[in-house]
Amino acid sequence: MRVFAYDVQSIHSFLFESLEFKAIAGASLLIDRFDEAMKKTASEQIKCLFAGGGTGLFVVRGENSKLRKLFEEKKKEYLYDHPVACVEFEFDDRSINTDDYPIWFRCKGLKESGDFPKIYSRVALELEKEKQRIAENLTQERVLSHPCPLCGNREKDSSYPYNDDYICKACYLKIRESSQIEDRKVTFNLDLISKRGKETRKSEEKTEEGYIGVVYGDGNSLGNVYQKMNTSEEFSTFSLQLRKHLQSAIEESAKIVDHYAVPLRGGDDFLMILPPAQIIQVLEILERQLEPLRTEKSITFSFGLAVLPKTVPLKFIFQIVEALQDEAKHERSQYSRETNEHYAAFRFIDKPFFGEVRDKKKKLQYGAGMTTRELFAIHQKVQGLMAQKVTKGVMSKLQQIFVESENRAFTLNSFYFLSRNTEIPKTKIRDFVTDEISKQRFGTLEDVFLFQESFGEGESDG
Ligand SMILES: [Zn+2]
Repeated sequence: MRVFAYDVQSIHSFLFESLEFKAIAGASLLIDRFDEAMKKTASEQIKCLFAGGGTGLFVVRGENSKLRKLFEEKKKEYLYDHPVACVEFEFDDRSINTDDYPIWFRCKGLKESGDFPKIYSRVALELEKEKQRIAENLTQERVLSHPCPLCGNREKDSSYPYNDDYICKACYLKIRESSQIEDRKVTFNLDLISKRGKETRKSEEKTEEGYIGVVYGDGNSLGNVYQKMNTSEEFSTFSLQLRKHLQSAIEESAKIVDHYAVPLRGGDDFLMILPPAQIIQVLEILERQLEPLRTEKSITFSFGLAVLPKTVPLKFIFQIVEALQDEAKHERSQYSRETNEHYAAFRFIDKPFFGEVRDKKKKLQYGAGMTTRELFAIHQKVQGLMAQKVTKGVMSKLQQIFVESENRAFTLNSFYFLSRNTEIPKTKIRDFVTDEISKQRFGTLEDVFLFQESFGEGESDG
């Protein structure tokens, strides 16, 4: 049996290399088109097990010159010069020896399982090697004489004019592709999605910035799921199901917003840009929609969520939500016994500020990972606090006490402060300060509070 597989090299850099929003959405479509075109190569001899999210897996009977040739053609047509790792090898399952595989690819109980986990492991290993080889060759810096203004990665080309300038062919193809997106709710105009916070609206600052909400979701440990499968049919059916599920979850959650965008949609991950006010609600709907995957297949997701000014370049926005998602995944890995939960990390960034955000004593951490249940609880808690006269001023004083006092002193100081300045019942204050604050969640509590104050329901809106 002959196996052919491909994987788009650093897919995120293909998606996010351009500064233009349109090009980012177009790039995501190009990946889809490429996968679709590869799927269509299927025939009697060529069986497509899976193609989606920039990866594909095929089983070939007999001579394979046709598939390889089509692959090269389609790659050039849809992805231009972007590298795609591809491997092809004869698979002989009689001579399988797992010792050759790096530890993270070895499947447990390989001997008892069907052929598929063996193929999957081998493909993953071969692709990884190939990608490393490509990456090594790419490290030599190219010096460009006229870099493309959108991506800066290629020479601009006078055949492709764009806004009084020229751009490279890759950026051109991406932007052209984005014109295919037809949905009155899907937009490339961040002004349509973004909303100003209530605070900025009141103040007289000259530059009133709009904010956007960003959700980056990714399936947890899907490799483990794949490795439990016994046949290639199981694998392709599941991949398709997962994609459909994700797609309908996104569409369902988008029903509550006026405009949104999905610049990235992979096999098991997606990036969604939406109006800030609905971000928590959208997460709730996403979760509800993904519930069958969780209960039936034990598939959970990690989410990075951020509300931030729309002026932050998308490339950085992606890095921020990616880092938040890492926090969520990290937290998940700490509690192996509770793996059947979704995890999330949330940040409200009201000024473009990058870098690690911790106070000097490393006590205050923003964007900490937690289960989505905990995040929803904080959100609810915040609404309760606001009703109990906890204001922005109270919150900022509380933060100061938190940073400056030792744990025991904090409990005392905050108790007196909160009982004098708010309407939180005294019996609840102790629980509040010990519970919410001790678990490294004060930063998130503060972020959610400021977010809720700017975008929450009630008061002025519109
Ligand atoms: Zn370019």
